[in-house]
Amino acid sequence: MKKTIALVAHDSCKKELLAWVSENITKLEGHDFYATGTTGRIVSEVLKGVKCLKSGPLGGDQQLGSLISDEKIDYVIFFWDPMTNQPHDVDVKALLRLSVLYNVPTACNRATADFLITSTLFADKNYQPETTNYSDYLNRKL
Ligand code: PGA
Repeated sequence: MKKTIALVAHDSCKKELLAWVSENITKLEGHDFYATGTTGRIVSEVLKGVKCLKSGPLGGDQQLGSLISDEKIDYVIFFWDPMTNQPHDVDVKALLRLSVLYNVPTACNRATADFLITSTLFADKNYQPETTNYSDYLNRKL
């Protein structure tokens, strides 16, 4: 079943993401992709039809967060750099928070991305991650 996959990599991780995408190209082809701007430009060298959002620091992470909150993203592959300060650190945190909130399978390193893509659940049409019902929160008395 066709999935929609978000791809993001910080600058020092872009080569690694490109290598991972290249290595897994046969499993990835045929799915839909969104990527932050520069990541998208780079992975488009090997992957067709990637929809490029704005560059991460210019709002691309927030655009992805918006897609997650609209439940339009099935998986997030986000190779973020744990050794470099990012000007858009709050946006990165917000994106990762939403991926947890909406229970989106999210790989933040290559090993987890390997587990995700080799899982029998990866393209399983019957698998839907559980969603949380926030009606208590939404209907709380103020
Ligand atoms: P980029 O953004 O793909 O435009 O470099 C990545 C990020 O969120 O840092």
